[in-house]
Amino acid sequence: MQENDARKLNQMFNRISNLIAAEKDYLTELDGAIGDADHGITMMLGFGAVASELARSDFEDLLPSAVMTTAASVFLNAVGASTGPLYATAFLRAAKTLEARQSLDAAGQVAMLQAITVGIQERGKGQRGDKTMLDTWIPAAEAGVAALERESGPGELWRDITAAGESGAAATRSMVAVRGRAARLGERSLGHVDPGAASAVLILKAMAEVFVD
Ligand SMILES: [Mg+2]
Repeated sequence: MQENDARKLNQMFNRISNLIAAEKDYLTELDGAIGDADHGITMMLGFGAVASELARSDFEDLLPSAVMTTAASVFLNAVGASTGPLYATAFLRAAKTLEARQSLDAAGQVAMLQAITVGIQERGKGQRGDKTMLDTWIPAAEAGVAALERESGPGELWRDITAAGESGAAATRSMVAVRGRAARLGERSLGHVDPGAASAVLILKAMAEVFVD
């Protein structure tokens, strides 16, 4: 069970890496509008490094929490910019949560989603409505909790999670950035989707593909 869960997380990071790489230009374009146009590249480098490191791992002896700890340190080393510490903290939080339960059943998946969200929130000291990746993660985690309470199956659970994340990301278009580089633009950040919110949607979609499978 534990070996399977570690492999599942490996698949998850692989899928994230592939999806981010495929959408690199789209993310670059979004960041070009309100930032420094590096988001596609940094996210691709970060998750590419995580996927390469995990490809060298022996999953027979690896706990799910150890996969997340590795992901945190590799991502942080590869991504120096603001996104690095945010996702590194998120993955460390997820590692702690998985350490406590060591199961990636539906409840474990939602607990991981919540841990990622709380990690980003604590590290970035951000809120919903700031026009950041949290506008994707917070509603996605809330949708996960609600779907779990309704005892939804995995298909419905992850459909709800990704749909909530997508609407949250889309809503950043009508927000004024108050954090990060985009905040310098003030009102001029209006009309553009936040690149971090957009890449978070890609991460959720990759998670959905792997966990619904
Ligand atoms: Mg940037």
